[in-house]
Amino acid sequence: PPALVRRAEQHDTKAIQALDSAHYIHPFTDHGDLATRGSRVITQAQGIYIWDSEGNKILDAMSGLWCVNAGYGRKELAEAAYQQLMTLPYYNSFFQTTNVPAVQLAAKLAALAPEVRGRKFEHVFFSSSGSESNDTNVRLVRRYWDLMGQPQRKTIIGRHNAYHGSTMAGASLGGMSGMHAQGDLPIPGIVHIEQPYFFENGRPGESEAEFGLRAARALEEKILEIGADKVAAFIAEPVQGAGGVIIPPATYWPEIQRIVDQYGILLISDEVICAFGRLGHWFAYEKFGYRPDLVTFAKGVTSGYIPLGGVMVGDRIAKVLIDKGGEFNHGYTYSGHPVACAVGLANLELMEREDLPRKVREELAPYLAKRFAEIGEHPLVGLAETCGFVAGLVLVKDKASKAMYDPELAVGMMCRAHCFRNGLIMRAVGDRMIIAPPLVMTREQIDEMVALIRRCLDDTLSELREKGLH
Ligand code: PMP
Repeated sequence: PPALVRRAEQHDTKAIQALDSAHYIHPFTDHGDLATRGSRVITQAQGIYIWDSEGNKILDAMSGLWCVNAGYGRKELAEAAYQQLMTLPYYNSFFQTTNVPAVQLAAKLAALAPEVRGRKFEHVFFSSSGSESNDTNVRLVRRYWDLMGQPQRKTIIGRHNAYHGSTMAGASLGGMSGMHAQGDLPIPGIVHIEQPYFFENGRPGESEAEFGLRAARALEEKILEIGADKVAAFIAEPVQGAGGVIIPPATYWPEIQRIVDQYGILLISDEVICAFGRLGHWFAYEKFGYRPDLVTFAKGVTSGYIPLGGVMVGDRIAKVLIDKGGEFNHGYTYSGHPVACAVGLANLELMEREDLPRKVREELAPYLAKRFAEIGEHPLVGLAETCGFVAGLVLVKDKASKAMYDPELAVGMMCRAHCFRNGLIMRAVGDRMIIAPPLVMTREQIDEMVALIRRCLDDTLSELREKGLH
């Protein structure tokens, strides 16, 4: 809208960039690089678009950081925050107290979490982020096994290239080698297995289904290597997000379920990205049909409007913790923050009213899949795939052999620069370009996004050809 652009143009971009560089340490940022280039100042947002301080309109195909599921500018969410701020801006849930929005949101989440093969999620623990929630998971599973009289069960198995947060436990559970390299991670008691990424790890002649089984059986091998009686839990994202939208083969999750059942190991489904409609369901374990004991959530629970995260605690753990646990010495000042919970509740009601998970499942995801199959024809694209409303495409040097570019060339970053220039936010993970658009997109907006992606691919290809690289 022109009014927004006019307001945005009033910002003094250079002055903000100078202050930014002088005082603000950004997450996951090379500050030497940022100081020379200057940061992009985002000033407003509406629907699926954001605006920068220069008045540029940008289609946000990443929903911020995979979180603005309901889109920007939803008045109901601002209204819910305002009302709660005026009624009870803060109170804690320690010392035999509670607050109404936290209770209501916990009950709402329990009602939305589907029962799988007799296992229910009646309880919720709240935090303020995905990272904190996974720290809580480490405490919860170790506490559970202590209470079960098996204190030697301490080891948690994660996966390479997984992302579970940036705290000590979150970064340790995750399998990002760049994160592990800084700060002596992982912390003790956390080990990793390979990720189910067929494109990269599939062997010549191996089918995707066979690979899915082999990748899952890496869990069994690791369990046997450590000793089943020492393993506490396995943690995984339904679809790996930050790792580059790594979609597991259909054979993967059923085999994981067989293995955790066989060895009695707890299963943690980290759905910080995948829950709340992202894959066409309220919770992603429903899509894949597995049965977790704990489900990590954050991001989409408030559509990112305010920080909130938590853990859905399944019956198996809740019964032990509540019936014979005594005090669990764990909690955050902002666990069950009334304003965050009020916004969460309003957001879930909005998503329910607009039927967003079903809309993604039945309308948006199939349409995105169709359009992405067309993008797969592009000469620079070696693979284009979607799952629900996330998608990834791989930039390749040679379409026939699917040979990749030298990572030193940073072709993904080259493509990302063209995206910025063309008014599109698309993320680069190496040479895998990924999107996770708001769930409120219309078909026309999907078409607009796909046209932008094509233009960016064309521009990247032209640049590569000019440099004699394609
Ligand atoms: N788990 C997953 C699967 C995530 O994608 C993220 C964030 N991208 C986190 C945990 C960490 O969440 P937060 O940044 O809110 O701490």
